[in-house]
Amino acid sequence: MKRKKSWNMKNQFLALTALPIIGLGLIIVFTGYSAFRKALYHQVEEELKSIGNSVLMHFDYTYPGNYSLSGGNTEDGEPTYRLMKGGADITPEYEFLDEIKKNTDIDITIFYGDTRIMTTVRNKQMKRIEGTPASSVIVRDVLNSGEEHFYRKFKVTNIPYFAYYAPIFNSDGTISGIVFAGKPAREINSIISRSLLPISLITVFAILLVSTLSILNSNRLVSSIQRINTFLARVAQGNLNAELDPKILARKDELGDMGRGALTMQNSLRALIELDALTGLNNRRYADKILHQLIASNHSNDSSFTIAIGDIDFFKRVNDTYGHEAGDIVLKGVSKLIKKCVEGKGYASRWGGEEFLFIFENMSYKKSVAALQEFLEELRGTVFTYKELPIQVTMTIGVAVCHPNDTLNILLKYADDKLYKGKSEGRNQIVT
Ligand code: GH3
Ligand code: MG
Ligand code: MG
Repeated sequence: MKRKKSWNMKNQFLALTALPIIGLGLIIVFTGYSAFRKALYHQVEEELKSIGNSVLMHFDYTYPGNYSLSGGNTEDGEPTYRLMKGGADITPEYEFLDEIKKNTDIDITIFYGDTRIMTTVRNKQMKRIEGTPASSVIVRDVLNSGEEHFYRKFKVTNIPYFAYYAPIFNSDGTISGIVFAGKPAREINSIISRSLLPISLITVFAILLVSTLSILNSNRLVSSIQRINTFLARVAQGNLNAELDPKILARKDELGDMGRGALTMQNSLRALIELDALTGLNNRRYADKILHQLIASNHSNDSSFTIAIGDIDFFKRVNDTYGHEAGDIVLKGVSKLIKKCVEGKGYASRWGGEEFLFIFENMSYKKSVAALQEFLEELRGTVFTYKELPIQVTMTIGVAVCHPNDTLNILLKYADDKLYKGKSEGRNQIVT
């Protein structure tokens, strides 16, 4: 149950810290990627357009006039085409097209009508794909419509090309063919991945670093909260001596406040449960607990201890003469002296109204009686004041030592009997 709770909390911290960072990182990478790709595509399109048009301009400048086609034969008798412009054979311009391809990696094709006449594109056998027809898409988009077109994955000899197609016009405005300028799409994509790889790696690394730090930090927080939780659970089960990790108490943040608050609560609970509200001495319940513990250890290892019950003499008269408030002041004053008497020697508690129980632990009966005598002497010499009125009281005390095998009732009866003996024999004395 407990483990499940902390796991949930860890997950919540994770959701609050690491996930937004990861999400943000992914958004940065993807928007960066698409912005870069868009810019690069635009740049490549401009480049293809400019090369395609430059080739046409070069031909127009060098060979003014319209394009035409003339048939011919190769040396081995294969039929071939010669592209003419303004009456001149421009087929030797292959060298020019090949040079462009060598320098820019851009393939060029000149179509006459829909047929490739001059091209730098070669098939698998490394033969130029002259004489082949343009695809129906190009015929529709460019040749028939008379408009230029870009394609991002246009297959030429089965290889996807980043392609630019534009119509070639005759001087009278009719269309004589098409110019193609294109780059294999694979090359453009590899530029994109090469450029984005370092920034992606840095982003992933940063995400991992920040997430790890925030996870470590939240784990530390969760573990502190867990420890406070465990402490509170122990206090709730009645363990008023449960200890809280001092590291939490040393924290200066809200968790430190929480830990200190829990400790204060433990102390307040202990005071409520173990202390008498008026005198600040231990209450009867606490004294009872201590007596049971001492009797148990007396049985197991013969450790003897001494108790004494003291009762203020004629206390009723104090109340009757000066009032209840004065009585309370006297009770508090007497308690202070009692506390001093048992300090470092054992326990003192308010056993009843004006009755007190002394417990002397780990000291001889003789020394215990001597301590009581010293206390009684001090009480006799003390003057309490209420509204500037002096009040003096004495006390009668019955002492009993715990013998092996004594029960608590027998021990208390010994002390009580001695107390009443003292009361009947003139009070203001210790009866041993
Ligand atoms: P004795 O010497 O025989 O003990 O006489 P006593 O007058 O002390 O004994 P008694 O039992 O007749 O009276 C005890 C009085 O103590 C009665 C009660 O009102 C008073 N008392 C008990 N508790 C308190 C308290 O909390 N405050 C005050 N002011 N008086 C208390
Ligand atoms: Mg009394
Ligand atoms: Mg009494």
